[in-house]
Amino acid sequence: MEKNTIYKDIALKKYNSWKVGGAAEQLYICADKDLLSEGINHKKISPPFTFIGLGSNLLIRDGGVKGTVIIMHGGLSEINLENNLFYAEAGVSCSKLAKFIARNSFMYSAFLAGIPGTIGGALAMNAGCYGSEIWNFVETVLVINDKGEQFKRSKNEYITQYRKVINKKKLDEYFLAAYMQFPKGIREEAEEDIRVLLKKRKESQPLNWPTAGSTFRNPPNHFAAKLIEECGLKGFTIGGAQISKKHANFIINLGNASAFDIEELINHTITKVLEITKICLETEIKIIGEY
Ligand SMILES: Cc1cc2nc3c(=O)[nH]c(=O)nc-3n(C[C@H](O)[C@H](O)[C@H](O)COP(=O)(O)OP(=O)(O)OC[C@H]3O[C@@H](n4cnc5c(N)ncnc54)[C@H](O)[C@@H]3O)c2cc1C
Repeated sequence: MEKNTIYKDIALKKYNSWKVGGAAEQLYICADKDLLSEGINHKKISPPFTFIGLGSNLLIRDGGVKGTVIIMHGGLSEINLENNLFYAEAGVSCSKLAKFIARNSFMYSAFLAGIPGTIGGALAMNAGCYGSEIWNFVETVLVINDKGEQFKRSKNEYITQYRKVINKKKLDEYFLAAYMQFPKGIREEAEEDIRVLLKKRKESQPLNWPTAGSTFRNPPNHFAAKLIEECGLKGFTIGGAQISKKHANFIINLGNASAFDIEELINHTITKVLEITKICLETEIKIIGEY
């Protein structure tokens, strides 16, 4: 598909890692941030907007998404290092940035290597693992609003929490890029850290199935996976959606799941865990679109 072009009624299955969901009323594949600004500003790209990275944290309902879905991956792909500051556009994959940081002999990027999303998605979710989160390393971000205006914002304009980012002024803005700082170190050590982390993830996660990673947030002082497992739900299946036998916080698509199957399984899990443990699970994944 051509970049900077608006398509109508496009199936979104290939734009999310669960491989489910309906169609986008309109779909726009981002080419460059100024073309995006121009398109929004001249009303060629019409609201409401849904920005999507690699769709690795998204459940898109079977009824599809109204308005324009803006795909960042593949378009906003610039990445560079200047004066010890890393610049990465929203469409860059987390693994690409992690490797770029390590190759330039900077440390602590390994946590990003196994996150199968984009920098834009990671900024929106405050993605992280093994004790690190992306906003720990962010200095400033470049954002765009619903009018197509671009602004640079500093980290202290946001409240960043576990898998949650709130603009203090509640502005409706989307991420275009981030400027980040990582500590200087030794290339071989940084690259070895990435290899070790990827091996660890491969051993513990069902990475060969369509999934969106951790479905639920860990409740305070608990692990969602442990709670789900203790309720005997590992392997529980609705339609084509199954709670992974390898990692109970992952829901996998066995091949023919609908978004409805996945949402039913999510709701069933919440009900069962609440009934048995009195703890109410909340989703980490974002659910969008129409039934
Ligand atoms: C196998 C697997 C393992 C995973 N492991 C981890 C992990 O260890 N840690 C972790 O934190 N997550 C993990 N995830 C979840 C997911 O990869 C992250 O949340 C990731 O940051 C999402 O990025 P994305 O580009 O796919 O975002 P998407 O799924 O496309 O979008 C996620 C949310 O961000 C919004 N968004 C996307 N781009 C932008 C933008 N440019 N501006 C504003 N909003 C935007 C979307 O509208 C949506 O609300 C995993 C997922 C999978 C499938």
